[in-house]
Amino acid sequence: MVDLWFDPSKCFIGGHWVPPLGGQTLELENPSDGSTLCAIARGNREDVDAAVAAARSALNSDWGALPAFERGRLLTKIGRMVLERIDALAEMEALDVGKPLKQARNDVVALARYMEFYGGAADKIMGETIPFLPGFTVYTLREPHGVTAHIVPWNYPMQIIGRSIGGALAMGNAAVLKPAEEACLTALAFADICNEAGLPKGALNVVPGLGEEAGAALSGHSDIDHISFTGSVPVGAMIQEAAARNIVPVTLELGGKSPQLFFEDADLDKALPFLVNAGIQNAGQTCSAASRILVHRARYDEVVSRMAERYAALRVGPAMADLDLGPMISARQKEVVSGFLASVDKAMIVAEGQVVPDVPAKGHYLAPALVAGVSGDHRLAQEEVFGPTQVVIPFDGEDEAIAIANGTPFGLVAGLWTADGGRQMRLARRIRAGQVFINNYGAAGGVELPFGGVGKSGHGREKGFEALYGFSVLKTVAAHHG
Ligand code: NAD
Repeated sequence: MVDLWFDPSKCFIGGHWVPPLGGQTLELENPSDGSTLCAIARGNREDVDAAVAAARSALNSDWGALPAFERGRLLTKIGRMVLERIDALAEMEALDVGKPLKQARNDVVALARYMEFYGGAADKIMGETIPFLPGFTVYTLREPHGVTAHIVPWNYPMQIIGRSIGGALAMGNAAVLKPAEEACLTALAFADICNEAGLPKGALNVVPGLGEEAGAALSGHSDIDHISFTGSVPVGAMIQEAAARNIVPVTLELGGKSPQLFFEDADLDKALPFLVNAGIQNAGQTCSAASRILVHRARYDEVVSRMAERYAALRVGPAMADLDLGPMISARQKEVVSGFLASVDKAMIVAEGQVVPDVPAKGHYLAPALVAGVSGDHRLAQEEVFGPTQVVIPFDGEDEAIAIANGTPFGLVAGLWTADGGRQMRLARRIRAGQVFINNYGAAGGVELPFGGVGKSGHGREKGFEALYGFSVLKTVAAHHG
């Protein structure tokens, strides 16, 4: 059991904890031992209707009337309160998602950083005046969309809620959040903290439940004005269809098959932790996981062998044991990843980490595996695995490296390891991705850095100031005064 200060079997609607109208709950599993953590609300269409109505009414009352700097002040306060609860929130996230405790602590800090960043930004988004015909004054206003829908996955609940809800609230929208059925405790805890901080009623509403019920009801709701979706490609496509039916804008943050490109002149000592960690962090269940490591042939054997050493030292165990990796989120996810690994010749698995002895039998543990020698068109080199495995692929020059890097349907993040400044600039432009990191990878999360994909990785941007443009709509005012 996890120690909670709120009732997770309820929805948070209009500033109140209310039981789901269908009276049903779902069991939340602890992936470290297969036990039930608690019951959560199984919200349905009626709950979503109530949440959207509460958000709409917030826009027309206290929340809508709040000046931008007051919104910012509230978000900053929420960030401070999140940090004050770091121990409880980290433990909750670790137990719920199965991630090692220190990674969960990083996620709490990231959530607080998003609140601080968007708190500071709330009153700094401005319109412009536009030179026009004589007798006119023309200016633009940045206004909230209205009611924003947020559907998020289970892998980094706090981080994704921070970037999505933080940006939406900073611009004055009222939000309805549907967290994932696999892990939603910190979403509820966050709502409670917002309430305690004094966020006006209805500015944030949370309806837990199943994707095909609460999620579908929210994305297809006729009274929402914007959708922010983070999740898989197939569900993303459904969300975009729902958005099309209601003609509302949608941001899709989807999957990836992100590469790191390691050139012959790169510093392997510096790169090595990034090459490996970016693949195994959160048991590889990361949208921006660097699941493909492309290495110049002159350094290929050396890189494979150094990565293999690191893999052999990796330890997998319960979230609270705080090792390198925790369990997979579910038995199903473990099965999917095992299926990918079974699709390659065993000899291609050049190193594996170890599940520590005596882990609970019902936990979903899987040893991380490093794979070398698969062809570029193999499914392990093309499809998102969402598990602790990376493939290493050799290349001979820049053109080939770019062809492999850009040779999947995705384009989320890429890493470039080279000491050659010209190559850094050239290839950063040629790589098809939403973010390119040069001689680093991930930049420790980068709250300030616009993030999002191209191709099947989605469209629209969250994080940074850019998100605030996405969470607002531009109005042009043309006054003719003669
Ligand atoms: P998922 O698409 O199965 O679920 C994501 C969310 O969508 C959940 O809340 C789920 O309940 C909801 N959902 C499911 N079916 C729905 C439906 N028919 N209508 C409306 N909502 C529905 O994804 P997942 O397995 O939870 O997450 C893993 C995926 O998310 C991976 O592909 C990963 O790359 C991606 N992801 C992307 C980013 C990013 O920023 N680009 C970040 C994290 C995860």
